[in-house]
Amino acid sequence: MKHVTLEIPIENLPATSPVTICKLKSLGINTYSDLLNYFPYRYEDYSIISTIDKLQQEETVTVIGKIVEAKNQYTRNGLRIQKVIVADQTGKIEVNWFNQPYLIRLFKIGSTISVAGIVRQFGSKLTLEPKEYEIINFDRSIDRNILKHTGRIIPIYSEKKGLSTKTIRDKIHAILNSTAAVMCRVAEMLPGEIISFNNLSDEHWAYRQIHFPDNLNFANKAKERLSFDELFNLQLANNLIKKEWQKERVGNKFTLDSNSVQLINRLINSLPFKLTNDQNKVVKEIINDLKKIIPMNRFLQGDVGSGKTVVASIACYLSFLNGYQSIIMAPTEILAQQHYETIKNLFSKLDTLKVGLITGSNKNKKNNYSVIIGTHALLNQKLKLKQVGLVIIDEQHRFGVNQRALLKEKALNPHLLTMTATPIPRTVALTLYGELDLSYIEEMPRGRLPVKTYFVPKTKRLACYQWIKLQVTSYRSQVFIVCPLIEESESETLKSIKAAKIEFENLKKIFTDVETRHALSLLHGRMKSVEKDQVMSDFKNKKIDILVSTPVVEVGIDIPGATIMLIEGAERFGLAQLHQLRGRVGRSDKQSYCFLFSEKKDLGISERLNFFAKNNNGNKLAEYDLKSRGAGNIFGIEQHGFVNLKIASLTDYELINKTKKAVEYFVSKYDINDWDGLNKKVKEYKGKQISRD
Ligand code: ADP
Ligand code: MG
Repeated sequence: MKHVTLEIPIENLPATSPVTICKLKSLGINTYSDLLNYFPYRYEDYSIISTIDKLQQEETVTVIGKIVEAKNQYTRNGLRIQKVIVADQTGKIEVNWFNQPYLIRLFKIGSTISVAGIVRQFGSKLTLEPKEYEIINFDRSIDRNILKHTGRIIPIYSEKKGLSTKTIRDKIHAILNSTAAVMCRVAEMLPGEIISFNNLSDEHWAYRQIHFPDNLNFANKAKERLSFDELFNLQLANNLIKKEWQKERVGNKFTLDSNSVQLINRLINSLPFKLTNDQNKVVKEIINDLKKIIPMNRFLQGDVGSGKTVVASIACYLSFLNGYQSIIMAPTEILAQQHYETIKNLFSKLDTLKVGLITGSNKNKKNNYSVIIGTHALLNQKLKLKQVGLVIIDEQHRFGVNQRALLKEKALNPHLLTMTATPIPRTVALTLYGELDLSYIEEMPRGRLPVKTYFVPKTKRLACYQWIKLQVTSYRSQVFIVCPLIEESESETLKSIKAAKIEFENLKKIFTDVETRHALSLLHGRMKSVEKDQVMSDFKNKKIDILVSTPVVEVGIDIPGATIMLIEGAERFGLAQLHQLRGRVGRSDKQSYCFLFSEKKDLGISERLNFFAKNNNGNKLAEYDLKSRGAGNIFGIEQHGFVNLKIASLTDYELINKTKKAVEYFVSKYDINDWDGLNKKVKEYKGKQISRD
């Protein structure tokens, strides 16, 4: 079915300045369709239109009348008032704006204005405190559909990049009333039977009602329809990506003969510990994938400290036994360094298996390694990687089409394993990564003591420092002190670093002690890699007792000796993120502690942090965050660009199930290429998988 779309460049918007176009583009809005998919987050109800004689105090109404007077007035304290008198057949009312003198030029005497606002009593007279207004350019009886800012329920949009909600509303209104949009009315994106089976409202109607609802009930219905579309499209895209992936043939096929089985078992038996049941299960799942001619595309989720690295290493070993290289990519150089050491150590008895580290600062390009560890930048380097059979991505967002293309450029079509400790509830994972096969490690290695966690009241801060001091001096305990996240940002900001530096100076004073040595060090992302490496290795070798850092320590760092984690500004983190931080301790058989500090007094915050203190299970915490703060706040998901849901909610399990079934029905019956609209949407999703670094 041909689908009429609104893929019209926003440059075509009538009466729109280049500045506005620019702002829209910086929000990622390039077409009419993009703009229609910029949804309001709430509404204001200005739908009561009243004649002036009927106005009542404190009522929210819209008044439509002629401007009979409009002038700027200056008060003694420098305030500028725009005094406007509006009249209809029943009377007059005064409307006052403040400090917007330019309005007077717009308010021509005799023109018709519609003002929405709140009626206020001033002494004996009523005035209208304006909230929104619009000038109406013709005189005939007013049709509500020409009103966009007043006289109806109006949409409120989030204001970003200097775009006002009024401008956005104005442009969306223009699009909805453009001829192109009217033409779109004939076309539906989904097959008719899916619409009727799921009782969906009309798509075109839904777009109109989500922006300019006739009533709030309709707005909700529209939201249901558009949420259905969003979840359907996302899952359809994943379904198709998975099918495409399964058509691929792996570049380098692995075999698992009895000899390799033996060697793998020998490696496993040489470990200083016994694999947990879950580790064993995942190793089997991975090996099963690796034997196939279809490239593996597996997502491994395992709580911090659950032992994913060793599982990954076993996979690398099978790759090595087949004569192929493996790449392990870590999100930071520190982590790459750490993996390098762990894995080198693990394979130390196998002298034919060479482990190499290639990072920005360590440009050792020799390429006779069996396992190459590095950051994402590895892919961009001019390394010859012809022999790569397996790529493992640790603590990183999912592998994008972009990177896959890079691999293909190098004539590679390897098996892929993505690993994360971000606890993502299963339903969410299935919705968002339907194209991947999922594996879970839920069991912790034996002998681990749960980290004792305390939410420390302000009054006990000093006592807590004293206690830590004692632990350091008496037991040589090692401590992480994490400074607050100053700004919500994907990477560390200068502000965060500055705050960490200040905190570091404060802590130096607190932990100076004439009799003992409390080696205190600072770690942040903008330090030179050599400096970072030095600090990390000093910490590992117990030359540093207390490591003060920005939240960079959060992913993956393994310092088994550290037993105390102190988190400042704990309320700023999502629970799952706190859990990641807490996971930096409790990595040995020693009892570990986690202290949460918060300067904010808020019942909700202490409830959340106390819940965290009592719970040690990452998935439980993620569920809690999902329910109380919404999906966008599950740490890692938002930060890694996992979720780009605009309207649907990941907690709406019923809708997730419905759409999943609808997708299964669709793919069993239709070919996507016959469905223009859907095809475009699916392609959009594929594009979005590209990682953002
Ligand atoms: P993560 O899953 O967070 O990446 P790691 O792979 O860094 O966890 O493992 C955490 C620690 O647990 C490491 O020091 C590792 O040697 C150890 N470990 C892994 N598996 C086991 C096991 N089965 N028994 C005991 N210790 C283990
Ligand atoms: Mg790890």
